[in-house]
Amino acid sequence: MRFEFATAARIVFGQGAVADLGSLARPFGKRVFVVTGKDRIRRAGIVADLEGAGFTCSLFGVSGEPTVALVREGAELLRAAGSHAVIAIGGGSVIDAAKAIAALAPNPGDVLEYLEVVGQGKPLPHAPTPLIAVPTTAGTGSEVTRNAVLGSPEHGVKASLRSPLMLPRIALVDPELTLGLPRGITASTGLDALTQLIEPFVCSRANPLTDAFCRDGISMAFRSLPRACANGRDAQARFGMSYASLLGGLSLANAGLGVVHGFAAPVGGMFPAPHGAVCAALLPHGMEANIRALRARAPESLSLDRYTEIARMLTGNAAATAEEGAAKVGELVRELGIPGLRTYGVGDEDVALLAQKAGQASSMKANPISLTREELEGVVSAAL
Ligand SMILES: [Zn+2]
Repeated sequence: MRFEFATAARIVFGQGAVADLGSLARPFGKRVFVVTGKDRIRRAGIVADLEGAGFTCSLFGVSGEPTVALVREGAELLRAAGSHAVIAIGGGSVIDAAKAIAALAPNPGDVLEYLEVVGQGKPLPHAPTPLIAVPTTAGTGSEVTRNAVLGSPEHGVKASLRSPLMLPRIALVDPELTLGLPRGITASTGLDALTQLIEPFVCSRANPLTDAFCRDGISMAFRSLPRACANGRDAQARFGMSYASLLGGLSLANAGLGVVHGFAAPVGGMFPAPHGAVCAALLPHGMEANIRALRARAPESLSLDRYTEIARMLTGNAAATAEEGAAKVGELVRELGIPGLRTYGVGDEDVALLAQKAGQASSMKANPISLTREELEGVVSAAL
């Protein structure tokens, strides 16, 4: 067996760790380009601290998931500001936007030259501006992955800008930044984290390092998420979710994903549905479809053993079956009040096209078994 493992150059994790942001950023230089979301109160203190420490901050606000147009604008501003580093403070959308902006600013040409699927997917000639990623949600793990997912409304899909050079230089993960996140966002982003641990664990590209992270992360997320949703100020539960999210990012970047993320790209590209909410709605149905297909066509598959292992972890029952694990995840999704995809405008008439697009998605390549068109349609229909 041969495998590689890449991550941010440096991971700094801990309660209150954000206080070290200035000292971590200083080696890059005193001019920083700060990309943030709508959470102004949270970011205001951090930016004031940086300015107090002598940094010149150029601010760039992101609302919603990043688009090609937003990244063009951000890269232009970053070039004009001549900043030494980019600091992303926010959820997955903010970090992905910042990764793409940092990647494009030092490179010639348009974002579409480098974007997969809808663009030409060319490699980046020059290294990005150094990036420090500071997540304020627990879900995407984007602080340790090497791609940024961008929407292109005119193409109706989401596609990745991807390069080994896009790994953030520093991932600064402070669970305290997630205290008080609203329950709905906690639930959907947390179930994205769980998906990003389950899919790499059962996928065809799993490796022993990501397996260890997935085992630890799956049980951590399953224990912590209901508590973080019940009480948003439960510091231990928030710690657990930030940690699980980090492990999910490390795992997906070094193994692969599967059917749930295969659907996330077209659903998110065609409908105004947040990534976490899409994955949360699809997760139990994706698990059920894979388990059924594996039992029918690959009963000796190691992936089936992995689903059984997940079931035993989640139920605490050493005799639990793979199907019982999927059912347990389904229960959690219901308990947390995750709405079906109809909430975002997805209807029965969209099932066939979504299944066709999901079948071609890059995440689908690592799914443990190739699913038929009917099986894919069944997954999305069940998630409506
Ligand atoms: Zn995800």
